Amino acid sequence: MIVQPKIRGFICTTAHPEGCAKHVQDQIDYVKSQPALSSVGKKVLVIGSSTGYGLASRIAAAFGGNKAATIGVFFEKASDGKRTASAGWYNSVAFEEKAHAEGMYAKSFNGDAFSDEMRAKVIETIKNDLGKVDLVVYSLASPRRQDPKNGEVYKSVLKPIGKDYTNLSINIAARQLEEVTLQAATDDDIAQTQKVMGGEDWQLWIDALLEADALEDGARTVAYSYIGPELTTAVYRNGTIGRAKDHLESTSKELDKKLKDKVGGRAFISVNKAVVTQSSSAIPFIPLYFIILTRVMQAKGVEELCIHQIYRMFAERLYAGKVDDNGFIRVDDWEMREDIQTEVNGYWDNLSQDNLLDVSDLDTYDKDFLRLFGFGLEGVDYAADVEINRPLPSMEGEG
Ligand code: NAD
Repeated sequence: MIVQPKIRGFICTTAHPEGCAKHVQDQIDYVKSQPALSSVGKKVLVIGSSTGYGLASRIAAAFGGNKAATIGVFFEKASDGKRTASAGWYNSVAFEEKAHAEGMYAKSFNGDAFSDEMRAKVIETIKNDLGKVDLVVYSLASPRRQDPKNGEVYKSVLKPIGKDYTNLSINIAARQLEEVTLQAATDDDIAQTQKVMGGEDWQLWIDALLEADALEDGARTVAYSYIGPELTTAVYRNGTIGRAKDHLESTSKELDKKLKDKVGGRAFISVNKAVVTQSSSAIPFIPLYFIILTRVMQAKGVEELCIHQIYRMFAERLYAGKVDDNGFIRVDDWEMREDIQTEVNGYWDNLSQDNLLDVSDLDTYDKDFLRLFGFGLEGVDYAADVEINRPLPSMEGEG
């Protein structure tokens, strides 16, 4: 099949297998070009490993010089022969093929990471194949979660708290600025978002791993959070998702105590920078902020993608124990620099439809967005007929 991008709203419904493989290879090449990450775990579980920050974490652990054995968990779609698989599926196929080619252990699980069944299957595999893991990366971003205890389905929403919020947003396809109003969250919205994106599920994973004696002495776990500037505070940090992140962050303190106590381990939150991922492109206002931010960070030579962020986090923070006054790892430090935020605010305050295309680099945003689905990568022949049905090596024979 000749695979072309098909954009529907803020997602692309097709993905290119060779393009996704090149996207993975580019990230591998980056970490290989850097000094080896000698302290990172040797047996690593990544929950949410197929795209974005989780994929970058799996790549950095395996190819950053440490040849870590990795187990990845994600929720992706295989190809049905007519439609392409999702990008995260092709990323994971490429990751496994490349890891296996270098003699590394890599197994993947496709399904609901929030379920007790998935936890049990993954832990059984850890026990059988690796004995224990020494690093657990928690990088899920999901719009819904079924509680494994009561079966109820909770939905995460992006809403301000207290009052409605109106600001400029961007309609990327139409190249138009538009004023968007988000209605204030109800108490139920806040509670449901916390159920999905808070720390409850992370805690269930760590408790289950401890219970099964599947964590090495000194094991570390890290989950990802975001704070962001004043400009996005109403909708992000002071909104429903911010409450969920508060919960994730307080969970990290509890897990830190528990891990210190039980295995001499540690739990961390890493506050990462805003990047284009399938999840973040769906958040109102964020893409416009992000487009301006990228322009400013590129001009100052400090722009980073997921892989750069995670490499820096592994190399300079997680194992050095370098944290801020709240105990958080901060690799959003360059995004939050005063000179960068002052410049972003300056552009934002003067933004109008007339200068939109000068102020924002929408072509770069389009390229970054399409790259998530394997389009626009150098060296890939997009006119060629490609096989879209790509089995995951570690799942072959499992149906
Ligand atoms: P992403 O959409 O690229 O990745 C999400 C991952 O979760 C994918 O692997 C997906 O398959 C998996 N997933 C979703 N639901 C699942 C389920 N039910 N079972 C199994 N797997 C499931 O997202 P991302 O932007 O990399 O976000 C990862 C984390 O990083 C989130 O906690 C997010 O808040 C945080 N973060 C993101 C940004 C950003 O700008 N993107 C910034 C800072 C922090």
